[in-house]
Amino acid sequence: MSIVGFIGLGIMGLPMSRNLIKAGHSLVVYDIVPELVDRAAGAGAARGQSSSDVASRSEIVITMLPDGPEVEQAILGPAGVLEGARPGLMVADMSSISPLAAQKVGAACAARKVDFLDAPVSGGEPKAIDGTLAIMVGGEESVYRKMLPVFQAMGSSVTLTGAVGAGNVTKLANQIIVACNIAAMGEALVLATRAGLDPEVVFNAIKGGLAGSTVLNAKAPMVIARNFKPGFRIRLHQKDLRNALLAAESMKVALPLTASVQQMLMALMNGGKGDLDHSGIVTFIEQMAGTEVKKAQTATV
Ligand code: NAD
Repeated sequence: MSIVGFIGLGIMGLPMSRNLIKAGHSLVVYDIVPELVDRAAGAGAARGQSSSDVASRSEIVITMLPDGPEVEQAILGPAGVLEGARPGLMVADMSSISPLAAQKVGAACAARKVDFLDAPVSGGEPKAIDGTLAIMVGGEESVYRKMLPVFQAMGSSVTLTGAVGAGNVTKLANQIIVACNIAAMGEALVLATRAGLDPEVVFNAIKGGLAGSTVLNAKAPMVIARNFKPGFRIRLHQKDLRNALLAAESMKVALPLTASVQQMLMALMNGGKGDLDHSGIVTFIEQMAGTEVKKAQTATV
């Protein structure tokens, strides 16, 4: 069992830190929001005063923050992890950030003899609570092996995908497939609804065929029920596709479908829909067509 520092106690970080405590690890935690530190302390964690304080008291540090700038601030910035780190400290950033940012942080850690892994997750809040996240890791295999028991307390699938940055490339691949899948589903259901069909009948007719997917099964019923409660927020998915486009540009890769859906997400955020579930991508297509996907009304006498 290890002394684990945990920085970033939001929707994902708080339940992940609780699962580490349940698995028997000793936790030292920090978040810029003091109430979140109080909640983790209530579950048995020790309070850290800053990211550097957490690092100085830990063998392993995990960060679970919104995006690259926050990760750079918490690890490289003033009162950050590297200020408190001893050589041999292991740091795993589990946020979803640009692979380029992960490599920058990884290089700065290596210069201080601190081991770094990027280890973003898939699965959302329910799987963070259950401890069944899918964890995609980038970094050296020897470090990965040492950190594996800690990852296994938070996830049911842990995969080493390559060097530092590879975890986030894998996560971006996941996010591209999910976003484009939702947009394609939106176009299909808008067309079917406008043609006078019941979208639920169409969904049931196609879900067992080649168009069937986990995304279709999870999101089509939400759209048909007009339930856009998050789940995974539009603003977070926009951030992930922006990071995918930045990484693609650095490698001169064209991602026309990703770019198109990223623009839809941006427009939805500007329309006040940033905190809807990402199934709300469908509402962008509905607006362009002037047709809302909903179950055909049965006549009442
Ligand atoms: P969140 O906004 O709920 O939590 C982030 C936390 O970081 C907040 O509590 C915030 O106060 C804290 N924070 C910000 N800057 C800080 C700093 N400099 N020092 C210390 N604390 C700081 O976000 P979340 O939903 O928990 O997501 C975290 C990451 O996980 C994101 O990269 C997200 O894309 C990814 N992710 C989220 C989900 C999901 O369903 N929510 C699923 C998979 C992956």
